[in-house]
Parts: sequence; C-alpha cells; structure tokens
Amino acid sequence: MTWNEPRPVLRRCVSCRELHDRRHLWRLIRQAGDGSVTLDSGMGRSAYVCRRSACLDEARRRRRLQRALRVPVPDAILDLLVERLSLEGDPPLRQDEYRPVQLTGTEAPRAPSIGDLHDERRQSPDL
Ligand SMILES: [Zn+2]
Repeated sequence: MTWNEPRPVLRRCVSCRELHDRRHLWRLIRQAGDGSVTLDSGMGRSAYVCRRSACLDEARRRRRLQRALRVPVPDAILDLLVERLSLEGDPPLRQDEYRPVQLTGTEAPRAPSIGDLHDERRQSPDL
C-alpha cells in the first residue's frame, strides 16, 4: 500500500482542459463570502489555469475564468498573472508538449493557417 506517499492533486486547466498537478497551476478563487476573486488562496469555488502564455491568453480572450467562476474576473488579476509569467518565463518544454494537444483539441475552429491551406491543396489536386 502507498497511502503515505504524497500524491499529486490534479486539477483541470480552464483553457487546455488538461489535468495537471495543481502546484503547477495558478488558482483563482471566488471567495465564498463576498464573491470577490482572489489569487492563490481562499475558500470558495476555484478555477485553475496553466502557467504558460498559451493558456493564459486563451483564458483571457475567451473569458474562461469568468465562466468557470461565474463572476467577472478583474483585469488586474489577469495582468498580475501575465506579470508573473514574464518573471517565471514560459517553460519551453511544456510549450512543446502543448502543441500536439492544441491540434487535436475540440475548440471552436479558428481561421486556418497558411500551412493548413497548403496541405489541403496538396491532398486535393482537383482544386
Ligand atoms: Zn492549460
């Protein structure tokens, strides 16, 4: 039995929907009392986002944290996370890991990149 072994607590990122050890995620909390949104600590409904620019951008653009917490998230908090990211840096390894996931994601379709269009033409010479 391994009950005494510390096991990672997995939480889902609101942007990429991947499960991660929550120590590697930023946590936003809607305070149970007044409904204000805080970072890192507090009691209440929580939302998590990866510590990487791709997920942070996605969360901001698509208001994923707002939706997860069901309250408006102040820009100041998102700005603070951007600032933290610039201090901590974007881990290059995790960015690489992220790419294939993004390709197979079920997000709303975006404008195809030039590369995608080129590949389509190659597969369909009749066009
Ligand atoms: Zn993520």
